[in-house]
Amino acid sequence: MNAALLTRLRSELGHPRRDLVVSGAQGPTVEVDGRTLVNLAANDYLGLAGAPEVLAAARESLDELGLGVAAGRVLCGTRSVHSELEESIAEFIGAEDAVLYGSCFDANLGVFDALLGPEDVIFSDALNHASLIDGIRLSQAKRHVFPHADVAELERLLADSGNARHRVIVTDGVFSMDGDLAALPQLSELARRYDAVLMVDDSHATGVLGAGTAEHFGRPVDILTGTLGKALGGAAGGFVAGSRVLTEKLRQVSRPYIFTNAMAPPLAAAALAAIRLAQTRPELRKRLAVNTSWLRSALADLGYEMLPGEHPIIPVMLRGGTRARDVAAALRREGVLVFALSHPVVPSGEERIRVQVSAAHTAEHLERAAAAFGRVA
Ligand SMILES: *Cc1c(COP(=O)(O)O)cnc(C)c1O
Repeated sequence: MNAALLTRLRSELGHPRRDLVVSGAQGPTVEVDGRTLVNLAANDYLGLAGAPEVLAAARESLDELGLGVAAGRVLCGTRSVHSELEESIAEFIGAEDAVLYGSCFDANLGVFDALLGPEDVIFSDALNHASLIDGIRLSQAKRHVFPHADVAELERLLADSGNARHRVIVTDGVFSMDGDLAALPQLSELARRYDAVLMVDDSHATGVLGAGTAEHFGRPVDILTGTLGKALGGAAGGFVAGSRVLTEKLRQVSRPYIFTNAMAPPLAAAALAAIRLAQTRPELRKRLAVNTSWLRSALADLGYEMLPGEHPIIPVMLRGGTRARDVAAALRREGVLVFALSHPVVPSGEERIRVQVSAAHTAEHLERAAAAFGRVA
């Protein structure tokens, strides 16, 4: 390798993070180094990643259609399962149509550049997901970042935006570090008043807050992106949902739709089964809510500080220095898998452990987790 590059990379690396290697299947518990840990670190909110119906759908599809299609959607990559999944997502979300992408990261990379140009202005919440930030950068549109959830500042920017062709307000539906919800009623009112497009990335909300934040607040959004890698089966895939003219435009010009392989059919079949379960088993959401409030009150009884909220993301605040990291490591030794978030992912002084609850957790899993938090406290 080129010596200059080698030297520079070495000096920049320092002590790099090493990814944890997990054995066995994703579930409410996972195996790490031969030990079983209660898994409070995954996005499998409805517990569908291990649902027998989801796994069976993937297996049947594998037997019938094989694994991959070795082509993009616009060539010979489209199978009927892709179209069925797009229809199913649209019906679930309450949109006219949906377009599949390989991931929500891809969906967010593909949506802005396809729709907007230098005549347009994007208004983006400061805590929006990395993929939104990158997707916005790939477009030619002007961009304004408003402080997190600061509706007054957003309004000031909108009022100043002069003769833009389109104004587009972009927000996460649920923010992944704090678990807080976008102020959709206010954003939707601003969009109406300033004739702006409202776009929401509902990756942490789809299937968790009903169909998502739009349904939760009873406010329609213009463009919705989401993932199949969290509550809807936890495998992989993303989508953009909205009116048919939007999705048709994306199919014509969106680069991460056109210039990449179609989603592997078994993944699409699994997501289709997961959406069916999310629609027909309201008890999963009920259990998720019960589990979340049980763990919140158990941690509160132990004296832990948490950011308030209703989402199964529970930010347990361990402010200052390496406390969050030390507690996360101690919890792993005590049989609970959690991760600490520190600067630059969250501001200094807001270090925390992000706990994520699933409908697949049993009372026994949660009691084990709470007991470990008790020993570590
Ligand atoms: C997880 C997440 C993504 C990425 O989803 P993938 O389908 O895994 O690429 C995008 N946006 C938000 C807000 C997310 O939370």
